[in-house]
Amino acid sequence: FYLKEKLSSQLEISPDQIIFGNGSNELIVFLAHLYLEPGKSLVMSEHAFAVYALATRLYQGDLIKVPMNALTHDLESILDAIRPNTQIVAIVNPNNPTGTTVDPTKLVEFIHQVPDNVLCVIDEAYLEVMPIEQQPNLLPIIRSGKDNLLILRTFSKGYGLAGLRIGYGIGSKKLIDQLNRVRQPFNLNKMAQVAALAALDA
Ligand SMILES: *Cc1c(COP(=O)(O)O)cnc(C)c1O
Repeated sequence: FYLKEKLSSQLEISPDQIIFGNGSNELIVFLAHLYLEPGKSLVMSEHAFAVYALATRLYQGDLIKVPMNALTHDLESILDAIRPNTQIVAIVNPNNPTGTTVDPTKLVEFIHQVPDNVLCVIDEAYLEVMPIEQQPNLLPIIRSGKDNLLILRTFSKGYGLAGLRIGYGIGSKKLIDQLNRVRQPFNLNKMAQVAALAALDA
């Protein structure tokens, strides 16, 4: 409660538009649980964060891997790769493991080009390592009420709390409500909550 309140006021996002996970890794698995099954696909770059591929496989979805351009996400090809059965398109920015970023303006354009029936996941696990002026500001898109955008962040990287397991997602009320349905009620341990609260003040 306290952590959600604090994060909500810092981000200027309603508390019911935030979900915490046992690491953002857990949220990626929730996404696959909700949206993937045989015959449904997830689109991502060929060298993007491996957990997306593992979670897709776990729920027997199809993984569509798109070649990169100089180890950078090729946003146009990613859009072209979306098929009628695509449920999720995932962009990791900055990307892990290639360490590359996409142009913030192009990313915003991309988000608006993803079809409304496809969930666009922007994983910002390494957001804090980017110079502030290069960081995309996607929160206004969430505030505008967009239903098919989920931003993932974590306390594991910039805040150095990986061992405590705490990450979060920001999205529409409807999307967060759906994700909460597959979440165990007590998925977040107390120490992680206390540490994350302190980290937000740092
Ligand atoms: C580390 C990482 C995560 C998962 O982090 P958690 O420790 O589970 O919060 C998710 N996505 C990317 C791109 C990462 O690098």
